[in-house]
Formats: sequence, structure tokens, C-alpha cells
Amino acid sequence: MTARLLTPALRPIFDQVVAGQRVTDDEALRLYGSNDLNGLGAIANVLRERKNGNVATYIHNQYINYANHCILSCQFCAFGAKKREAHAFEMSIDEIVEKARAGLKLGITEIHMVGGLHPTLKGEWYLELVSRLRALDPNFFVKAFTAVEIRHLASRIFKKPIRETLELLRAAGLCALTGGGAEIFAPEIRDQICRGKETAEEWWEVHRTWHEMGMRSTATMLYGHIETAAQRVDHLRRLRTWQDETRGFTGFIPFAFEAEGARPGVLQNIRHATAFEELKNLAIARIYLDNFDHITGYWVSLGLPLAQQALNYGVDDLHGTIMEEKIFHMAGATTPQHQSCAALEKAIREAGREPMQRDTWYRRIAPTWRPPAPAGELAVA
Ligand code: SF4
Repeated sequence: MTARLLTPALRPIFDQVVAGQRVTDDEALRLYGSNDLNGLGAIANVLRERKNGNVATYIHNQYINYANHCILSCQFCAFGAKKREAHAFEMSIDEIVEKARAGLKLGITEIHMVGGLHPTLKGEWYLELVSRLRALDPNFFVKAFTAVEIRHLASRIFKKPIRETLELLRAAGLCALTGGGAEIFAPEIRDQICRGKETAEEWWEVHRTWHEMGMRSTATMLYGHIETAAQRVDHLRRLRTWQDETRGFTGFIPFAFEAEGARPGVLQNIRHATAFEELKNLAIARIYLDNFDHITGYWVSLGLPLAQQALNYGVDDLHGTIMEEKIFHMAGATTPQHQSCAALEKAIREAGREPMQRDTWYRRIAPTWRPPAPAGELAVA
């Protein structure tokens, strides 16, 4: 699409982005007010292509949730549980390691692991877990814990400063932090949907410290509930400012709120974001976050067909194979539990992009997927 085909409101922003200029917060708000979805996609595509050419990536990974016992009760969360609740679960280290070992045989390059804020697990348990996972294969990435889990580990479990806690976990083999827990950063929204969770500044303190240690993490946004467009822009503004400081975020992963699993209260009866809204939000994120190299279309939330569409709306990454997703599915998501490498590659290819496997830090590995071996396993070179 050329600038001529854009609505008059979007044309100056298209020119600005082509010229390499940042969009302002007011302009981002104007983008949220626009219904010219294809125009937004065209602008987002300028940045996507500039940063990633025609390549779209995915990771061969496996999710593991070690436990869902949690001392908090966030309004939107169907995953966290008190010990007495029927859906509470806790895996042993042996069980987790066996699961990861099975995943490694299928060729995964990353374990992605989060849990609740567990009231009783000991610091040694976490360190043994991470080190035993890492010991399975030196090239294997252990990506784990949200910022609020790290704060919980630091203050209640290890009783050490954030930096020392992160250093202990890194020494054990932790390779990357997850981007979860960001929700919407505006305090007035956090107070209603996740009271007691860390503030935006506390979330950033964990990531900043991790970045200062030379490490990388991702950032997320949970949208489509009670937040306004201005609060979404505020969320993006904070991320862009912080990324200017450290350049430690590898990718941005927004996902829409699933209402079915929400606890009674302010989040009841909210309709799920439409496909239109989801593509629009992804495109605006791509346009605004000019210092993020990658925007991920999270197929667990979008569904693979829409994630594939999103490759034309600024997205250059489809996340991963995942194998077993619990958090969104406990909240009511009806998407599949996993995708094969072949399905992700096919989706990317059909959208006219070149599929490429990546590692946890979004570094391209190569198109290494091979057809299933006779034994029924996927062989990865
Ligand atoms: S979102 Fe995280 S911190 Fe909040 S209740 Fe759920 S598991 Fe606990």
C-alpha cells in the first residue's frame, strides 16, 4: 500500500515512520482512534520489514508451570490457586526434569517456566530446579519467572536484594526472564485488576537489573479489559522509555484478556477483544515501539489463523510450539494446546514470509525443522 491509499489522518504518520521519526503519544492515541486497519498495517509493515526483512520466526519451546499455588488473587487470573482449591497443583523437580528431557528429545531449545507466588517452596528448591534443567543440555535455554515471581523470591524466599537473587538464579543456569506480570502499568488499573502485585516501577526494577547484568527479557501487555486507549499508550510509552535505557527487551508480546476465568468483580462480562482490535493493537505496538526489534503474535491468545494474519500487521514472530499451555486455557482460551514446527512454518510461508527458527533471545537459528523421523519424533539438526 502506498501513502496515497491511506486515510488523510494516517498519511502524515506513514511519512514520518518512513523518514525514521518516532510517533508521539498523541499520535499513538490518534492511531487507536483510527479504523483504517489496513492503513495501520501498512505503516507497521514499514517498520517490520526494516527490522526483519521478509523473515518471520518461531521458537521450538515447551511451557512448564511448576506450581500454581499463589499468595495473591489477581482479578483476571484463573491459574493461581490457594492450596485447598481443587485446581491447585505442584510438580516435583523430578517430574519437571522428566518433562523437559522428553521435550529435548523432540528438539526443543527452550523451557519456558512460570508459576504462582508459592508460599512455602524453599530457595534451594528453585536453584536445584534451574540447575538440573540447565544440566540437561548446555545449549538449552531456561527462560523462567515473571518479575513478580522474582520479587517474591527475593523478599520472602531468599530474603536478599533483587540483584543478589537474580545472580543466584543466573549462576544456577537461568538464561532469560519472562515478560509476564506487566498487565497494564497504569496504577489505577493495577489497583482494580491485580491489587497487591508489583507496581510498574517495581516490574521495571527487576528487568532493568537483569538487563544491567547483560541478560535479556521480554515485555508483555494484557489488554482488552477496563483500560482506556490512553492507558495502553502509557504502557507502551513506559516500555519505549525503558528500552531506550537498556536495550534489554528482545520482543514485545501483547495478549487480550480472557473473561471466562475472571474472579467475581470488575472484570466480569467483558467481551473478548475482536480480531479487528487485536490486529490494530499489534500494528500500533509495532509502530510505536520503534526500539523493539520484534513483535510477537501470541497464537495461544490469537489463534493461529489470526496470528498468521498478524504477520501483515507488524508481527515478525509467532512465538513457539509451547506443547502445553495452562494459563490461558484455564482462563477459557479455546485455541490448541500446542503447535508443531511444521504448522508454524506453514503459517509463515502461506503469509508470504520466510520461516526461521529462533532461540530465546530471538537470534535466528536456521530453518532446521525436518519431517518426522520414522520413530515419530521430530529431528532437529
Ligand atoms: S496472575 Fe500471577 S500473581 Fe496474580 S494470582 Fe495469578 S499466579 Fe498469582
